[in-house]
Amino acid sequence: MKVCIEPMGAAPLIAEYDAQQQTIRVNARIVERVRVRYGESAAQDLVRCAIAHESYHTQHPDASEAAAHAFARAQARCEPRILEELAR
Ligand SMILES: [Zn+2]
Repeated sequence: MKVCIEPMGAAPLIAEYDAQQQTIRVNARIVERVRVRYGESAAQDLVRCAIAHESYHTQHPDASEAAAHAFARAQARCEPRILEELAR
């Protein structure tokens, strides 16, 4: 499993899993926006949370968004919904 932090076009997406490349991509534009607005530690929380969330999807392909959020909350000790708000 690889993690890339890279710009993902104009998409408001925080992160996605690329099954072909077995890579989690985190949207660098959103990470940067959060860093500028809320600081470095918020940006790191966002990345950690996004990785936990996408990892859960890779291991549980049929799982709901709520389940992936719950996993990220427990695993990365972050509040995914708040991070999603930050990313807007
Ligand atoms: Zn998801």
